[in-house]
Amino acid sequence: MIVAKKSLGQNFLIDKEVLRLIVNLTSIENKSILEIGPGTGNLTSLILEKKPKEFCVVEKDYDLAEKLKKSYKNKITIINKDVLKIEENLLFKEKIKVFGNLPYNISTEILSKWIINLKHNFWFDCLILMFQKEVADRIIAKSNSSDYGRLSILSNWKLNIKKICDIKPISFYPKPKIDSSLLIFTPKKNFYPIKDSKNLEKITRTFFNHRRKMLKKPFNQLFNGDQKILDKLKIDLNLRPQNLDFETYYKLTSEFENLNS
Ligand code: SAM
Repeated sequence: MIVAKKSLGQNFLIDKEVLRLIVNLTSIENKSILEIGPGTGNLTSLILEKKPKEFCVVEKDYDLAEKLKKSYKNKITIINKDVLKIEENLLFKEKIKVFGNLPYNISTEILSKWIINLKHNFWFDCLILMFQKEVADRIIAKSNSSDYGRLSILSNWKLNIKKICDIKPISFYPKPKIDSSLLIFTPKKNFYPIKDSKNLEKITRTFFNHRRKMLKKPFNQLFNGDQKILDKLKIDLNLRPQNLDFETYYKLTSEFENLNS
């Protein structure tokens, strides 16, 4: 009997229908696959059935990693490490597909790390990831909505995002208190050229620090009231941070980089 470790966000997916849906979202046969947090191997075994060319999993829990080694030795590569500390882009020679029912306590950290480290030469074809619904809602949110914010702007910078479905707590063991959502991400061929993602983070942090306040204060703080930028990007300072679309934030970041280079 496996005792789930709360500290590692262990809510194992036990719903066979959902598991089958996940592995049927993309072709796996003869592809290189990475799974983050395989846990007890529920998804792992279905991925294996589809005959991937190479299959690597990253599991932080030593006990689970040892169990997986016993069940799947010679069939998959098991890395007993923290996903936040590995260079996943170096694991395979070719582009990979990534699956993960992510540990919810670090899911945004994992996604942010991957986005920030992405160059035009993408190391993956697609990411099929499970998040808590509230986080997924923030990832897919569009401007003028209450969920729109830093995470939506960062995620949409380099990735196309599609929501597949919501999943109820009953599909997991132990049952989480919240609903989950399954998202699929594919890389954008062309994304807005920003020199340093830290600048995008700085811009969005400053603007969304007071999300109910008008844009005037954060704009003046960052751009010293530069009227040329306001005219060029057609920004009305009486609006609020959630009223500016993705592109405007990327353009503002470029202007910020030009001013500070
Ligand atoms: N994929 C399994 C499933 O759906 O049944 C388990 C999903 S569970 C939500 C998250 C898994 O990620 C757990 O097995 C946990 O031990 C593992 N994990 C937690 N933190 C991790 C980290 N930093 N790096 C790698 N794996 C981690």
